[in-house]
Amino acid sequence: MSRRAVVVGAGLAGMLAAAVLSAAGVEEVVVLERDDLPEGPEQRRGLPQGRHAHLLMAGGLAAMEEIVPGVSLRKRLLAAGAHEISLSSGMLALTPEGWLRRWRREGPVMLTCTRALVDWTVRAAVLERSAVEVRKAAVVGLTGSAGRVRGVRITGPDGEADLDADLVVDASGRGTRVLAWLDGLGLAGVRTRTVDSGLVNASRVYRVPAGAERFPLTIVQANPYVSRPARSAMVMPVEGDRWLVSCGGSRGGEPPADPEGFLRYTLDLPDPIVGRLISGAQPLTDVHLSRSTSNVRRYLEKAPGWPEGFVVLGDALGTFNPAYGQGMSVAAFGARVLGGELDRADGLGEPGLARRVLRGAARSVDAAWSMAVSQDVLYPEVRGGRPGVADRVLTAYTRRVAKAATGSYAAASAIWDVTSMRTPPTRMFHPGTVLAALAGTPLPPLNGAPLTAGERKVLAGLDRTGR
Ligand SMILES: Cc1cc2nc3c(=O)[nH]c(=O)nc-3n(C[C@H](O)[C@H](O)[C@H](O)COP(=O)(O)OP(=O)(O)OC[C@H]3O[C@@H](n4cnc5c(N)ncnc54)[C@H](O)[C@@H]3O)c2cc1C
Repeated sequence: MSRRAVVVGAGLAGMLAAAVLSAAGVEEVVVLERDDLPEGPEQRRGLPQGRHAHLLMAGGLAAMEEIVPGVSLRKRLLAAGAHEISLSSGMLALTPEGWLRRWRREGPVMLTCTRALVDWTVRAAVLERSAVEVRKAAVVGLTGSAGRVRGVRITGPDGEADLDADLVVDASGRGTRVLAWLDGLGLAGVRTRTVDSGLVNASRVYRVPAGAERFPLTIVQANPYVSRPARSAMVMPVEGDRWLVSCGGSRGGEPPADPEGFLRYTLDLPDPIVGRLISGAQPLTDVHLSRSTSNVRRYLEKAPGWPEGFVVLGDALGTFNPAYGQGMSVAAFGARVLGGELDRADGLGEPGLARRVLRGAARSVDAAWSMAVSQDVLYPEVRGGRPGVADRVLTAYTRRVAKAATGSYAAASAIWDVTSMRTPPTRMFHPGTVLAALAGTPLPPLNGAPLTAGERKVLAGLDRTGR
């Protein structure tokens, strides 16, 4: 293949893109990262979202393992302390339609650990297997013309310089300056859409109390159907015998950063289980807040003109409300599309390659976007979107499946398949799912969390709230 590819950003999209470029035979793959990258699984400045709970869905993990073959990322993550959680039996989840049952049958799984561990594990595996170079530099613009990008302009320890490349991949995340960079080449007219529910995330790490090591991941989901702000909380086990507890609230329902307020927030949810659990656990950190979590879609693949030699992947193409745990998987799907197109192409300079990659990557962005935005527009005071007739019809059907899922294995497994990103959202319209939705739940609703006797005892032992 051809000579040099430059990737902007050493996050997940960037490292996975670098891996496929190297596998496609590109001679020199340079990843430019403005952050100092830690030696281990540590939080860093350029990834503020890393302080909050990140669920790694099975579909995304499978794509990552395809991109970095020969090392089982799953095994490495588990060996480093990640947890594998069955969606069918390993979770306590209160949904807007009621508590989900725990089934004896195994369903899809997801991995839980810190975001820092996912990034470090993927980065280490890519660097081990591929001749990829990571350089510290911040990209400040593109070089070339409206017809072809020829490289990037960087600032580094030695000042400003240009770095030529046959292909540039922007994987610089939700803060990307891609529109300004395109403007610098004389390319305007990219349509963007922002749907902002004012979501705020607040997270705190706790030590898992003795005896609670096997307590399931616990989640109280937000309810978009009650004309009130979103409020949610999750206790997620991560490596190092810790619980990462994340709350999320939309405008008017934001979680606070003070420790007492944080606990009160979890106790005031429709079920106080999260607060009861953490009331007796030892906090290891302060509460960290993040505010920049609006849904932003840059329709780059639809731009009237697009330069050869320039591709955009991951959050830089689209970001969405993280409640559905999709962003890391979408980053992996985008890198996989790049790999597929490179395999079919005759060199990095092949006309139309960049546009084809963008279009392919945009498909999984759109699926994730629809799932997040169709719910976010239902919250009060959302900016940038209102539910249309199609949204309302879709919402009514999704609610019906979700209601059935509280007691029907067929309906629940459709939701797990879509949530785990193993199948596209069209799975919700398979005949078996439609029938399950029409039939409703054959079992009565649960009136509390489906705890085992042992878990009930653990919860009672931890509870300092007197409830
Ligand atoms: C609160 C929250 C919770 C989330 N939870 C989940 C979840 O449960 N599951 C899930 O799958 N996803 C989740 N996400 C989404 C996930 O974090 C993102 O989708 C994912 O990080 C996207 O990866 P990326 O590589 O595109 O961008 P990033 O991971 O943001 O990486 C971008 C990289 O580019 C670097 N960079 C930026 N600008 C420049 C520049 N000019 N020059 C050089 N380097 C630069 C940055 O330092 C960074 O290293 C969550 C997001 C948030 C905000």
